[in-house]
Amino acid sequence: MDTESMTDSTGMDMGSGIQRELDPLENAHIQFEEAAARLKLDPAILQIIKQPRRATIVKLPVHMDDGSFRVFTGYRVQHSIVRGPAKGGIRYHPDVTLEEVTALAAWMTWKCAVVGIPFGGGKGGISCDPTTLSKTELERLTRRYVADLIDVFGPERDVPAPDVNTNEQTMAWIMDTYSMHARHTVTSVVTGKPLLIGGSAGRREATGRGVLFCVREAAKRIGLALDKATVVIQGFGNVGSVAADLLAKDGAKIIAVSDVGGGIHLPSGLDIPALQKHVAEHRTVAGFPGAEPIDGKKLLEIPCDVLIPAALENQITQANAGRINARIVAEGANGPTTTPADKILNKNGVLVVPDILANSGGVTVSYFEWVQDRQGLFWREDEVNSRLEQIMVDAFHDVANMADEHKVSFRVAAFMLAIKRVVDVIMLRGVYA
Ligand code: NAD
Repeated sequence: MDTESMTDSTGMDMGSGIQRELDPLENAHIQFEEAAARLKLDPAILQIIKQPRRATIVKLPVHMDDGSFRVFTGYRVQHSIVRGPAKGGIRYHPDVTLEEVTALAAWMTWKCAVVGIPFGGGKGGISCDPTTLSKTELERLTRRYVADLIDVFGPERDVPAPDVNTNEQTMAWIMDTYSMHARHTVTSVVTGKPLLIGGSAGRREATGRGVLFCVREAAKRIGLALDKATVVIQGFGNVGSVAADLLAKDGAKIIAVSDVGGGIHLPSGLDIPALQKHVAEHRTVAGFPGAEPIDGKKLLEIPCDVLIPAALENQITQANAGRINARIVAEGANGPTTTPADKILNKNGVLVVPDILANSGGVTVSYFEWVQDRQGLFWREDEVNSRLEQIMVDAFHDVANMADEHKVSFRVAAFMLAIKRVVDVIMLRGVYA
């Protein structure tokens, strides 16, 4: 496709390259501006909420196992604390940049507002390749990052969580380091912890379960019977594998899945528990007996009722959006659809349930974890799941009502709802200027 001379309806100059289409911060800004323009907000208020309130860069010297020192760069961006403490994960990846973390922090503000939980938005990251670091090096890196940001984090200030390449163990080190500096145990400083140290039942499955609740509501909206629906899922990690399992239990047929090792396709439907066993043994879905191998890019274009991108950013772009053959796209991943691609999907009548709604189950149960830690009283898993369902179904219908009222896509509606909720709080609190 010739992209040299293209512009889209937002005025985005696609000729300046795929680079801009694939820039998460650019996408986050366009999504914000499109929704904010419809709300006809005071430009002064827009100035307050568009930019992050605080961005911190830290240089982290770490003693390596071989006796040498290496200096890593870490980031923490607090996009907003208007509705409560900043909330958002910490990512360890070589591609982490201040711009990427800033986009992800902004999405967290809007995500927390869409589901109506009392948090702002934040995100953090360290530019590193965790696959080349030993467990002890990762522990020292994590502890140094937390120690350097000790005045930024806190249960009332900024509460991190896992993201790409960080896990329960990382969260345990964060909790311990913060607690050592505070001189007492502070479990509520971080979520996504192991159960033994203040984690919540149901947190591991929460994002996939939230995707299920959104797909159920979206299916009802378009008159699709979920027990007859076909589903394709990109990514078989925490989000994708749980969504696959729960959707299959609802009677849907999971006809294709992929991960970083490859894709598999079985039109009669995959046996998900057997696939989970295969992945536990082989660390990839590839080679699953009875299924045909399929190229990861082609997988996105398989005709199906529901497509769930649950891997990475920028998977549906203007290059392939026209060939997406699904009735519903439920964004398990953050930022899987670029702005030009989103317009193509909408034009083609695909119901896109945007990331800030579809994958908000994770942060919602993180909120439950924070509440339980602060109360010192822990809930049963069925209680966690039913509270999650109530919040997600309400949020879905709030977004659907906004979309119907303003005749906009679910993404624009979700941003409008979120921005309005943040602005309403600013108006009540007033601006301390
Ligand atoms: P994960 O690391 O558990 O799983 C990621 C999966 O994507 C793996 O199966 C991996 O093999 C696969 N993958 C990587 N590159 C791929 C490629 N090129 N093609 C196909 N598959 C590929 O991560 P996760 O926690 O499941 O997160 C997935 C996405 O969901 C990320 O965008 C993350 O930010 C987002 N998300 C996660 C949560 C959560 O609670 N885990 C919450 C909100 C959003």
